[in-house]
Amino acid sequence: MAEVRAKPVPQPDGISRPYWEGAILGEFRYQRCQACGKAQFYARNVCVHCHGRELAWQVAAGGGRIASFSVIHRAPIPAFAGDAPYVLALVDLDEGFRFMCNVLRCDPASVRIGMPVRVCFESRPGSEQKMPQVEPA
Ligand SMILES: [Zn+2]
Repeated sequence: MAEVRAKPVPQPDGISRPYWEGAILGEFRYQRCQACGKAQFYARNVCVHCHGRELAWQVAAGGGRIASFSVIHRAPIPAFAGDAPYVLALVDLDEGFRFMCNVLRCDPASVRIGMPVRVCFESRPGSEQKMPQVEPA
């Protein structure tokens, strides 16, 4: 099996395209249901709270807190080996949903549950796509 040297780049589909296009522009987009008013992430065709189908895209302000995390010492593929140790986290954004990302620009040993963070965007070499991540606020 060939080693994967480049980090993976998302392949947007019909439902996720607005999210990934927003990331290129520096916007963290998510869906809010027009029937029940609740936020959801990741993008789906139906509201997970009320099964409504009228979902509107909104832009998150970018603030949130670490809900849980793990320090990765052994990269799953060679493309991430240079980053280890790095932090994989579940982050609760202020808009009311959770997403998984890396915590950048900090010592992994300094990350704590409840730590305030803000969304940032990581470039991927060879692609215009940017990856939503977080950094300490
Ligand atoms: Zn709903």
